[in-house]
Amino acid sequence: MLERERERVAVTARRLADEGLVLGTAGNVSHRAGEHVAITPTGAILAEVQADQVVVVNAEGAVIAGDLAPTSELELHLGIYRRYGVGGVVHAHSPVSTALACVLDELPLIHYQMLALGGPIRVARYATFGTAKLAELTLDALEGRAAALMANHGMIAHGADVEAALENARLLEWASELYWRAAAVGRPRTLDGDQAQAFLDAVAARSYGELRRPDR
Ligand SMILES: [Zn+2]
Repeated sequence: MLERERERVAVTARRLADEGLVLGTAGNVSHRAGEHVAITPTGAILAEVQADQVVVVNAEGAVIAGDLAPTSELELHLGIYRRYGVGGVVHAHSPVSTALACVLDELPLIHYQMLALGGPIRVARYATFGTAKLAELTLDALEGRAAALMANHGMIAHGADVEAALENARLLEWASELYWRAAAVGRPRTLDGDQAQAFLDAVAARSYGELRRPDR
């Protein structure tokens, strides 16, 4: 069941590890196909995940294919699908984003590429991993955004499919590293609302197509 989707989740999980966004088991990946979600299992070493280890659950989280238990952040993933109707989610304790999530209350809009994620990135308040409270806080931080930081924990990104979610996770890690380097030199300037709107207008005028951002 969902063989292709399970393979895509496994490939994305290994890519996250290969690119240094995840160490060991510190992340999870999912892809939604209609009412079903293919998701990495709990305790999986992401660098080694194979398609047959990826679990398939229904919208209520019941396992309908696979021998392993789904990730402990299952409710977080399902909550994002329910509230935002997207097709892929990536959660990782990536090094630079997580460092900023230990310090900042918000990652300010320091580069126009961050507009592909919807603007400044909120930091969801801390709660214990795998809890409904953490899911609630993180879902709120994602309002109008394709990514969020999670205080003293990590980052999360979503997209139209699992590959798009990975791309948004990469973009957030890049923006985090940019902020970190800029802040090492001085106080980073931020783009204001007019500058952000002018960028979006320029993109529209050049018919570059829609930015990958949720329209809510
Ligand atoms: Zn985590």
